[in-house]
Amino acid sequence: MVASTYLIALGSNRPGKAGPPRAQLAAALTRIGGVVAASRIRDTPPVGPSIRRFANMAALVKSDASPPEMLRRLKQIEREFGRRRGQRWGARSLDLDIILWSGGTWASPGLIVPHPAFRERDFVIGPASEIAADWRDPISTLSLRQLHARLTRPRPALRCVPLGAGP
Ligand code: ATP
Ligand code: CA
Ligand code: CA
Repeated sequence: MVASTYLIALGSNRPGKAGPPRAQLAAALTRIGGVVAASRIRDTPPVGPSIRRFANMAALVKSDASPPEMLRRLKQIEREFGRRRGQRWGARSLDLDIILWSGGTWASPGLIVPHPAFRERDFVIGPASEIAADWRDPISTLSLRQLHARLTRPRPALRCVPLGAGP
């Protein structure tokens, strides 16, 4: 069977089995296996109620696993690295999400690919576009490069016009 490629987002904002967040991500990457590209690790301000900064990165992973099988493996690794079920958005020692799958879209109970929220998340799109800029989101048909530009370009409504410069 031809292997699929997955784009996986990794995040951590509390220490776990492998140590502080950056060490968690590096060790998780080795544990996932089949990694053909990895972004740099970036520090991201926390989202939601947690006050700890996140370490985030993205990786391209080749695997024969189906999407549900891949999610099962990722959840197993989260547990091994010290993740406990608790607050959504809260402090977590490891979070592994499936962002894109080379097979396109997937929807089953407990799993939606592409990840429904990834397009608006700079901490996912930034690292992802570093390693797979030409990969197209099958829903919006935009490439990661385009999704990144959309997030980072100044929005027209906020463009500054010097006072008195108008007609
Ligand atoms: P978010 O999904 O908004 O990033 P989260 O990662 O904090 O939030 P979790 O508590 O880690 O959320 O996961 C909640 C559930 O989301 C998981 O148990 C999993 O079944 C489901 N899920 C659905 N689609 C995906 C996906 N593409 N990747 C990972 N988990 C997914
Ligand atoms: Ca997540
Ligand atoms: Ca998750």
